[in-house]
Amino acid sequence: MSGEKLLIVEDEVHLAEVIADNLELEGYAVEVVGDGREALEKIRREPPALVLLDVMLPGMDGFEVCERLRAEKVDVPILFMTARSDADDRIRGLELGGDDYLGKPFELRELMLRVAAILKRSKWAQTRATFGDTLVLGDASVDFKGYTAQVGDKVYTLSTKEILILRTLAERPGEVISRADILDRVWGYEAFPTERTIDNFIVRLRRLLEPDPQSPRYIHTVRGTGYRLTP
Ligand code: CA
Repeated sequence: MSGEKLLIVEDEVHLAEVIADNLELEGYAVEVVGDGREALEKIRREPPALVLLDVMLPGMDGFEVCERLRAEKVDVPILFMTARSDADDRIRGLELGGDDYLGKPFELRELMLRVAAILKRSKWAQTRATFGDTLVLGDASVDFKGYTAQVGDKVYTLSTKEILILRTLAERPGEVISRADILDRVWGYEAFPTERTIDNFIVRLRRLLEPDPQSPRYIHTVRGTGYRLTP
């Protein structure tokens, strides 16, 4: 029994009950809220280990709840659940800072697997990196506790995903890390429609940390495979 606190935000009462019952059987402590605004208040007051967040909600939709939380730097893991399962919604949810996405109707077993995977990633994110709290790349210094990068006398804020991508690379310096490995570590399987998304994150990290982003000194692309960090 894990006892971790989960919050289900879902206005379809029957569905919320079925999900809650199943999660409770797995040993989680579950609360249910049916209104977006109420959910936002509740999460602000006491962030659970994970939020299962419906998109179409009374009060405030799930996307807005997620957007506001991330704007306030509330870093609680979020799993979107929605009937609107087209690719645009999926991408939007993840770009707003969601951790994963399940289109309704879904198999309960699938939901359980996703919940366990997100909690596992979230625990990993909360542990100390094997190399410590700081990564120095030439003139750039990344603070893994404060989620910032100092380059010269400028300080930039990094997102959770950026921090976790860097950490995945930095924990195995000099090794080639595949895009699939990064996806699995940082998002979990199937979370993204394409591995290209990682390339976009890498481009931003290089712009921030590399003296010359066009010919990287630290974050190298290994063609057809993935990335390698050379501190
Ligand atoms: Ca709904």
